[in-house]
Amino acid sequence: MSVPATTSELHSVLKKYWGYEAFRPLQGRVVQSLLNGHDVAVVMPTGGGKSLCYQLPAVVLGRTALVVSPLIALMQDQAAQLEQMGIPAAALNSSQPWPEQQEILRRAVKGEYRLLYTSPERLLRDDFIDFLQHVPLAFFAIDEAHCISEWGHEFRPEYRQLSRLRDLFPDLPVAAFTASATQQVRHDMLRALKLHEPHRYIASFHRPNLNYYVKACDSKTQPQLLLRAMEAYEGSTVIVYSPTVARVGETVEFLRQAGIAALPYHGKMENAGRSENQERWMNDEVRVLVGTIAFGLGINKPSVRAVIHLSLPKSVEQYYQEAGRAGRDGEPADCILLWQKKDAGLIAYFNNQIAGAVEKERAWASYHTIRNFAENAVCRHRQICLHFGETPKWAACGACDVCVAEPEWMREPERRVRATASATVEPGLFAHLKEWRRLLAKEMGVPAYRILSDASLRDLCHKRPSDEAGLLDVFGIGEKKAEALGEEILEALEQYTQ
Ligand code: ADP
Ligand code: ZN
Repeated sequence: MSVPATTSELHSVLKKYWGYEAFRPLQGRVVQSLLNGHDVAVVMPTGGGKSLCYQLPAVVLGRTALVVSPLIALMQDQAAQLEQMGIPAAALNSSQPWPEQQEILRRAVKGEYRLLYTSPERLLRDDFIDFLQHVPLAFFAIDEAHCISEWGHEFRPEYRQLSRLRDLFPDLPVAAFTASATQQVRHDMLRALKLHEPHRYIASFHRPNLNYYVKACDSKTQPQLLLRAMEAYEGSTVIVYSPTVARVGETVEFLRQAGIAALPYHGKMENAGRSENQERWMNDEVRVLVGTIAFGLGINKPSVRAVIHLSLPKSVEQYYQEAGRAGRDGEPADCILLWQKKDAGLIAYFNNQIAGAVEKERAWASYHTIRNFAENAVCRHRQICLHFGETPKWAACGACDVCVAEPEWMREPERRVRATASATVEPGLFAHLKEWRRLLAKEMGVPAYRILSDASLRDLCHKRPSDEAGLLDVFGIGEKKAEALGEEILEALEQYTQ
């Protein structure tokens, strides 16, 4: 079954529900492929806009897309965001009370949802498969599809079972989405899911909204630079990656003594404390989070303005992924690598614990590549693209310390200067709207970004709408959001003017 849709029809849906003016690269084509009933395989970097690729066709088709996702928190977050946009959606998981699950199942059979999220384990339970025969399904969307590959570093055994989907539902398209950059993993993914002549879309891994700044430090200059960074990104959300659990604690304490509130996050903390810190950071209560690599999967906060590394990561892949948590909203963001020559010592320590000779060698090779990345005077964006097998057409990116220059705060110790990624709008109004958003989010018990994104706040500062028509002109404000929050937004703007 397929539903032809003209480009202008798709754009009006995009505008009506999402409040966006245009598709990001490849989105429109992926949507068309799904509307035409094809299997698709989509590789897009973090922040590329994968979710819209399956959400929008579900809306247009008027049936239910079944979305498989590895994390309960992510599913719930997405379902809640869709509901807020006026798109019926739900997430089913075993931690929900039984009556709530039953209610969702009942509504699903009636075809009420455009999107239904669930875990791979649940999807392939026999009773659920039987149940799905009664749901008017549009297609399956497999999020984080690289989790199916044993070659990837995020292998999830439960994902393996998804290979049965194709046989169980031979007539329904399957769409696979991943941000994984390695060839082997992508190949494995297509094979394991038994995609049928899939339309393949591979977006560039170049993320032009990110600025990469790399600086070799010593143990004296690194803490100084960290403090200056905190000043430069004052008021913005920041992640600081620290190589060890001990250094997470030290860094939080060091910042505290400098009067900067920061929360720790690492694998040795108790679950409750860890989730609490994550939540407080997600909700904009504390803007700085200092974590080990344990802080990662499931971090989908769109408005991170800087990711600061306090040592060399183990590989370029790891760096790309961690630094890439900045700027998911497409707004400018900075990735700052404050490394030290002595980082090699810690890496040697880890590498020497690796048992297999082949693995050990691979770990050292990764180290040399990331070390070259840091030391070569070659455009950082270019080095990353080349590493992932892309040859950029441009020579200079305009967004790294090699091509342009590092921001002033990285150079001149005495001067107080703003970071490059900070807003170019009236700062007072922007701050006012952020505070309004934080309070409203608290009152509603939802994360702040779900109220409005930074990009929307910025556009509000530019356009300063005074009525509902004006609001609909603002980036990220669709009809439903204007209806639900319009008055409050206008009031907040009014308040500031007075
Ligand atoms: P991914 O899953 O690929 O990391 P998301 O689907 O979370 O990316 O989208 C990243 C951000 O980009 C979100 O804040 C989303 O609302 C925004 N976005 C997606 N598509 C568009 C678009 N066409 N125009 C503007 N913003 C978009
Ligand atoms: Zn560059």
